[in-house]
Amino acid sequence: MTTFTDAPDVQRLRESLRGDVVLPGDLGYDEARRVYNAMVDRRPALVVRAADAGDVIATVNHAREHALPLAVRGGSHSVAGHGTCDDGVVLDLGRMRGVRVDPESRTARAEGGCTWADFNHATHAFGLATTGGVVSSTGIGGLTTGGGMGYLARRCGLACDNVVAVDLVTADGSFLTCTEKQNADLLWAVRGGGGNFGVVTSFAYRLHPIAGILGGPTFYPLDGEVIRRYRELIADSDERLGALLVVGLGPPVPFLPERWHGRPVCGVAVCWTGPEDEDDGIRARLAGLGPVLGRMVERMPYPVINTLFDELLPPGLFHYWKAAFSRGMPDGAVDAYVEYGASTPSIQSATVVFPLDGAVRRVGPRDTAFAHRDIDFATALAPTLTTREDCEANKDWVRAFHGALKPYSAEGAYVNFMDHDDQHLVRDNYRANYDRLTRIKRQYDPGNLFRLNHNIAP
Ligand code: FAD
Repeated sequence: MTTFTDAPDVQRLRESLRGDVVLPGDLGYDEARRVYNAMVDRRPALVVRAADAGDVIATVNHAREHALPLAVRGGSHSVAGHGTCDDGVVLDLGRMRGVRVDPESRTARAEGGCTWADFNHATHAFGLATTGGVVSSTGIGGLTTGGGMGYLARRCGLACDNVVAVDLVTADGSFLTCTEKQNADLLWAVRGGGGNFGVVTSFAYRLHPIAGILGGPTFYPLDGEVIRRYRELIADSDERLGALLVVGLGPPVPFLPERWHGRPVCGVAVCWTGPEDEDDGIRARLAGLGPVLGRMVERMPYPVINTLFDELLPPGLFHYWKAAFSRGMPDGAVDAYVEYGASTPSIQSATVVFPLDGAVRRVGPRDTAFAHRDIDFATALAPTLTTREDCEANKDWVRAFHGALKPYSAEGAYVNFMDHDDQHLVRDNYRANYDRLTRIKRQYDPGNLFRLNHNIAP
């Protein structure tokens, strides 16, 4: 069989790149094809490790001209496995990680392959930050194009709300600068519409003066009363407080007594970004949520709060996720958190609830592709296991949990927390924005080259 990999075209592609091409059989192929979620085990025909926008253009053209599947990879965290494919081209942006901060305009230009660790490190040097993910190895590319939730969302909006411009390589290989004034439709679409419209070679983000924070987790026994008080905390606290609810098993951390390791707990992880002497009484309020089993709420640089879960979640674990949005947090949902939380399958598994009020809701549902501006909470149900067999065995658990939340959930689900078998939720997810997204998709990617994602079909 003649394959493109031994064809002169691949040779030509290789010669045109500053980055490199890794082919099956090459030393390093297994590493180059690997993604964060070990459930996803695919064998691309070639992996291009792009060094710059020119490499991105060449790779997009190569995939299109040879009618090959094209997977775009930023930080590789897509649990659905969108950062890789079988028998196609993987465009790995992991070498494109430059960040340039402009303290005058309070913006940062970040290349499409950055992780949040790269980004936060660069902006923190200037006492600035923007909303990003709560694990530092997650890519800015996937997280931002899908929406982007994190500790700063209540104060600063979603990651995509802070994007003021992107450079984008579209399916025909064009390089387009997209701002509110130029290619504005595309800017609108990549702010929540996922990787459907092209490859973002760089994002320009608005930054906020955030340097030191008061933050960290507090753990309680898994109890509906604690969760209901968390709900109240979110309803009446200052937007400068970011606070995630985490339901799972007690992690083996020194500030949690050993007898709670591996036992059902709930935790509230906070990030107070207001002045040090005006902390909204957060420590006392956390103590009032229920009996505190252990806590580590301290002053720390902003980037550090986004590394606290890193050690628990290294690459190579086996994930299968589900996602839900809710208006308010009805008592029935609280009951489901408690019931299913008690049988969380491993210490790495967690149910994480992100509040989406404050600045997230001050953006209109039609202002960006991310339509959910009347939602209060986004939940990631994230069973994470150390073997494929255990992960397979727990799929029913998470499906049942998801089913129990359904009566209390809004339509759609956050694309970045959905797994590969949730494609049917995409239309609902984009709600009234879906038609405009399909029109833009038809204009810029009529052949659906960018289809390895939660796909908006042209
Ligand atoms: P990749 O697998 O590299 O990319 C996924 C898809 O995103 C690609 O296939 C492509 O379609 C698109 N994409 C990536 N880069 C680009 C680019 N430069 N241009 C165009 N398209 C691109 N989400 C949150 O909102 N908040 C969180 O706090 C959060 N925490 C997480 C923690 C962990 C441990 C994990 C596994 C996921 C988390 N997520 C979170 C979900 C996360 O947003 C998605 O997994 C997202 O897809 C990750 O982006 P990535 O670039 O790392 O992924």
